[in-house]
Amino acid sequence: MTIVGAGLAGCEAALQLAKRGKRVVLLEQKPEKRTPAQIGDDLCELVCSNSFRGASLMNAVGLLKEEMRRLGSFVIGAADATRVPAGGALAVDRERFASHMSDLVRKNELIELVVGEVAAVPDSRPVLVATGPLTGDALANDIAQRVGAESLYYYDAIAPIVTADSIDWQKVFKASRWDKGETEDDKKAYVNCPLTEAAYKDLVRDIRAARKIEAREFEDAKYFEGCLPIEAMAERGERTLAFGPMKPVGLVNPQTGRRPHAVVQLRTEDEAATAYNLVGFQTRMAWDDQKRVFRKIPGLEDAEFQRFGAVHRNTFINAPKVLDPSMQLLAEPGVYFAGQITGTEGYVESAAGGLLAALFISDRLEGREPVPPPATTAHGGLITQMARNPDAYQPSNITFSHITPWDGPRLKKRAKYEAMSRRALADLDVWMSARDGGPAVGGYATG
Ligand SMILES: Cc1cc2nc3c(=O)[nH]c(=O)nc-3n(C[C@H](O)[C@H](O)[C@H](O)COP(=O)(O)OP(=O)(O)OC[C@H]3O[C@@H](n4cnc5c(N)ncnc54)[C@H](O)[C@@H]3O)c2cc1C
Repeated sequence: MTIVGAGLAGCEAALQLAKRGKRVVLLEQKPEKRTPAQIGDDLCELVCSNSFRGASLMNAVGLLKEEMRRLGSFVIGAADATRVPAGGALAVDRERFASHMSDLVRKNELIELVVGEVAAVPDSRPVLVATGPLTGDALANDIAQRVGAESLYYYDAIAPIVTADSIDWQKVFKASRWDKGETEDDKKAYVNCPLTEAAYKDLVRDIRAARKIEAREFEDAKYFEGCLPIEAMAERGERTLAFGPMKPVGLVNPQTGRRPHAVVQLRTEDEAATAYNLVGFQTRMAWDDQKRVFRKIPGLEDAEFQRFGAVHRNTFINAPKVLDPSMQLLAEPGVYFAGQITGTEGYVESAAGGLLAALFISDRLEGREPVPPPATTAHGGLITQMARNPDAYQPSNITFSHITPWDGPRLKKRAKYEAMSRRALADLDVWMSARDGGPAVGGYATG
């Protein structure tokens, strides 16, 4: 089989398939050509941070990593082998990590690494496309033709997401503008954080003053008018936000009986309403400043951020519209996608996507129909995220909001996340036993 792209997803997938005895041709443009973010010649390059984020089972990416360990992930094996001290996070020595992964791939007799830019999805089947957020233009054009131009995006404008538990519900009110909606739930679809005139002016001043992440050279900062970063709006004039995402028209605060001067609206991220995004608040503000400034919004004083806002170059397909649950193109069976190009944001999530795609492809090569992991697991959460929100699909890190909500006894947040993690690992073990003959705890191959 063929894999395009030897990054986090592509290398993990190639090694998983080889472990199952499958021959893989792995096509990679490096070192002949690099994406604008790459500097090294090794495979599996970490282009920015050297962190695989939180290690604890109290956060979703910690759970995802533990599941990957149990599934025998090579990327997590290499990360564990090259880790550097980083408190509660799993961080690595990036050069040793990339060199370790490159060795695994290059020394594997079942993997043939072929160097050169790929301009179109190869004809052989199955094929896995894992070319990441900076997929070359020629290949991106070919993908656009296959999935439809409206289902391939080049830019990513993300609003911050806060957990429901961390909102001060006494200070906010639920309502849709003009009470619109057919059901009571629709009429109360938004959570509104009301601002006085003074609080609004302070917020605009803070947004203007906050440190912004500069666009990198390849991220030509031409924004769509429809998703301007809030700081760009704040720069246009003091009232611009009050006429844009913060407009209060059609909303009455039941606590005062009056229309607030401005509002920040929150919209739920998931059916169980465990997380909310700040509607229209896509931003390039630095993460620390997002935390400091947005915590001044009434109701968000103790907000816990599941994801910070961002606006950056990012090639991704509308996975919910074009992929089936086995990450295969609905329109072209045999063509699979994995990694950031499917909207699984982050190093860990991208590698996990590669791992899943490899299992699905391996199943089909062996004549079995793949069974996706349970929705209670973090891997199942990735599949859920790739199926949600077809009309407004955005890449996302893994969060507990992608995983089946906790339906056991009422628990405080930390205890609930721990319980969800325990449930996930137990369900994963059952799922694994039903396929590759059971858990591979501690058994990832490193050579
Ligand atoms: C600038 C930037 C910074 C990021 N920082 C972080 C971060 O700090 N932390 C984090 O968790 N995530 C970060 N991400 C998000 C993302 O998780 C990583 O980009 C991750 O590497 C994605 O894994 P992947 O396997 O999907 O793609 P990649 O790791 O990018 O791998 C894709 C591979 O495909 C190759 N390729 C591309 N096009 C072609 C072609 N036409 N022919 C042949 N080969 C091709 C590339 O050379 C590359 O080796 C960042 C993304 C970007 C763009």
